[in-house]
Amino acid sequence: MNDQGPNTRAVHGGETSDPTTGASAPNLVMSTTFAMDEPAGFSINAFEGEIPYIYTRWGNPTTRVLEEKLAALEGTEGCVVFGSGMAATAAVMLEGLGSGDHLLISDVNYAGTAELARRTLPRYGIATSPVNTSDPAAVEAAIRPETRMIWIETPANPILRLTDIAAVAAIAQRHGIPLAVDSTFATPIATRPSELGADYVVHSLTKYIGGHGDALGGAVLGTRERLEPLRTHALVYFGGVLSPFNAWLIARGAATLPIRMRAHEEGALAVAKFLEGHPRVARVNYPGLESHPQRDLARRQMANNSGTLSFQVRGDGLALARRMAKELEIIHYAVSLGHHRSLIYWIDTEAMMASTFHLEGEQLAHYREYAGDGVFRLSVGLEDARDLCRDLDRVMTGRAP
Ligand SMILES: *Cc1c(COP(=O)(O)O)cnc(C)c1O
Repeated sequence: MNDQGPNTRAVHGGETSDPTTGASAPNLVMSTTFAMDEPAGFSINAFEGEIPYIYTRWGNPTTRVLEEKLAALEGTEGCVVFGSGMAATAAVMLEGLGSGDHLLISDVNYAGTAELARRTLPRYGIATSPVNTSDPAAVEAAIRPETRMIWIETPANPILRLTDIAAVAAIAQRHGIPLAVDSTFATPIATRPSELGADYVVHSLTKYIGGHGDALGGAVLGTRERLEPLRTHALVYFGGVLSPFNAWLIARGAATLPIRMRAHEEGALAVAKFLEGHPRVARVNYPGLESHPQRDLARRQMANNSGTLSFQVRGDGLALARRMAKELEIIHYAVSLGHHRSLIYWIDTEAMMASTFHLEGEQLAHYREYAGDGVFRLSVGLEDARDLCRDLDRVMTGRAP
């Protein structure tokens, strides 16, 4: 396995043909319970080492196929999958932190993550400091004696700002603090954070890895030792388990991840260049553009620039969003990203600050540099870029269809 390329790992990782029937595609095992040949313990704590299949919340053959495929793609020892990206995120935070601990987290990231850290964790006695992690010195300065986790997201939703994983990992290691990286926007095709020193790699499988907009899922990857409490406690007690059917769908999507990412990148670059030259567009944020303020870091850290970009427009963004929702013919005006269908959504800066980020001063100024009064987040799908550009241009210039 070790010397196989990413395309081979994506197709074959975790899979073997069925020993009884020879079936080439993975079986879908929907059973919640498993018949046993002899009595065994009734608690997961009664088992040591590899846990046999007993109950699907503890483990299932189809979800195991997905876990092994993802570990092969990410190059980690292990993987635990969850019912959604947020279930994976909550598991890492709640298992890794306790009352009196401090979480240092990126000040800009996925809204659910930001809200969990700011609204919910403090109720359990966990303090949170949102920091602009694109500046490693700011990360180091915000560390406290009780800091027990650093959480970054790169590229960060929705402004596509990057964090230097290796630089932050070096700081985290010096202070003995585990580093978690939400790598959903990058995927293992662009970046493998564990090779850069991250302890937990988190993905929403709902996005690029599943890739088709038909299954929610989440994953945490890392060493077997790090993942052990997630598998035996967070998954079993919090219960955010992935359905085997979703695991099966996501494994099928993951098999084509490398080729889809090449196509997403190619399409996104073409659309980003088109938007950058459009009279209605004030700024485009995309790691693959020469104009990205961290283009050098993108070159070093991302082997693929992924397929999501955001852009500011001149004039009333909300009014344009209303027109897009009604008049776009190919691109869906919808949340989420990473699907084969292109998706666009307006993210208003003031509303986002009030509901989620609550940034002030320098942090707000840095956000506004990327986002102005708001951005359209565009997930470029697998359609022809020319058709996407025409769809956008027609609505942005107010021409009749
Ligand atoms: C979507 C997303 C999540 C949450 O994942 P769900 O599968 O929707 O729960 C977390 N992080 C990032 C970066 C995301 O895009």
